[in-house]
Amino acid sequence: MPEQQTLVMKFGGTSVGSAEALVNAVQIIRDTKKDWARMVVVTSAMSGVTNLLLDSATLAAQGTVDSLASTESTLREKHFASADAVIKDAALREATKAEINKLILSFVDLCKAIAVLGEASPRAMDAVASIGERMSVRLLAAVGNDAGLSARGIESTEFVVTNAHYQSAHPDFKATTEKTRRILNPLMDAGIIPITTGFIGATPEGAITTLGRGGSDYSAAIIGAVLPADDVWIWTDVDGIMTTDPRIVKDAKTLSQITYSEVAELAYYGAKVIHPKTIRPVVDAGIGLRICNTFNPSHPGTRLIANVPSDLHPRNGQVVKAVTAIRNQRLVTIEGRGMLGVPGVAARAFGAVASTKTSVPLITQASSEQSICFAVPSESAASVIDALQLAFVHEIEDEDIDRVWMTEDVSIITVVGVGMRHTPGVAGQVFSQLGKSKANVLAIAQGSSEVSISMVVAAADTDLAVQCLHELIVK
Ligand code: ASP
Ligand code: MG
Repeated sequence: MPEQQTLVMKFGGTSVGSAEALVNAVQIIRDTKKDWARMVVVTSAMSGVTNLLLDSATLAAQGTVDSLASTESTLREKHFASADAVIKDAALREATKAEINKLILSFVDLCKAIAVLGEASPRAMDAVASIGERMSVRLLAAVGNDAGLSARGIESTEFVVTNAHYQSAHPDFKATTEKTRRILNPLMDAGIIPITTGFIGATPEGAITTLGRGGSDYSAAIIGAVLPADDVWIWTDVDGIMTTDPRIVKDAKTLSQITYSEVAELAYYGAKVIHPKTIRPVVDAGIGLRICNTFNPSHPGTRLIANVPSDLHPRNGQVVKAVTAIRNQRLVTIEGRGMLGVPGVAARAFGAVASTKTSVPLITQASSEQSICFAVPSESAASVIDALQLAFVHEIEDEDIDRVWMTEDVSIITVVGVGMRHTPGVAGQVFSQLGKSKANVLAIAQGSSEVSISMVVAAADTDLAVQCLHELIVK
């Protein structure tokens, strides 16, 4: 008898991205199911498919449908090749291909309609994007059943209920709880493994929505939270969360565990292992979360844990757990002696930034109040500067604001570790270490959570700064 109750497992795009990956995923499902009484599987679209779909829709909105026929055949080729290679039962194989083909044809129709309209509404973009998961779920379920699993493909639009905020919809947890239990529990009680779509949901009226790019992790967390499950496992293509990017530091290590607050900082500061929204539902529901590698399934991966009691760390002086870098940022500074004590400057500045739909990963203000400085992605920097100059046109005329300017490309380097909260002198350690790298620090910010310290360095100093700070991690 299985020892544990309910597990939700999510497979990312690369984990279902080819015939071999699909076979491997099914093997993992089979092996893992032995230990669990009930299991739900959540899948992403095959890797690259969502981008392909959305790019076609964007082109269609510009009136270009020339590449539609080739996209159509790429999609067919990608899904059919896997079906042909793996599904042995001819009837099942043909039925699966026919269903996928129907979805591909509906995608073509949608793009043609978008081209006629000359515009793609967020709702239309979600309808297009949803097709990737709706294809992959059929494929994975068929491969599973063909290999002897008792699985049922089912679209999450049937039970993940969201608001109508297309492209980044918010789940209605109450309605989702009721429907998810009503639909998935009887299947699981009958010994069936529901295999469902990540990323998508539907409004109460039934219009398809998406939870935002990369949102399949979030889907798994939502489903796990409402069932509730005991554990949610995110299967991806790396061993787990690493101390830093192994392309920058060769001896970067996989962390066996990390706290939710640390991973939240990491996700925010550029480590794209799990979608940041994944954390909240599992923390709220008290569910375990694990990240593991489909291409190395015996590796334990990384376990996410609730915050460790303060007396458990930092035993070995391991305060810094991980280092990340976000590249391609610019620092924007608004400065002027006339700003001193004037209320509302910051609010107006960030109002102007928000009007350009740019999000700001880091802010600092000197206590002299003579300047406000913040980071924005390089590609939005010029429009941010324009918006600020417009917002403060009078203050600039009156010379209360001397100038609004930006740096060349910079990177935000962040060190993360909950132990920093209880350990004095960490900032000093971090900065003297960084001093060794000779990287010049342009700005500093510490999150009020005290779980991270961020530093801004010139783009050219990025790797050096990360390598140097990584030495603070005790192996
Ligand atoms: N397929 C969707 C995307 O690429 C969702 C996901 O993969 O998590 O954004
Ligand atoms: Mg994806």
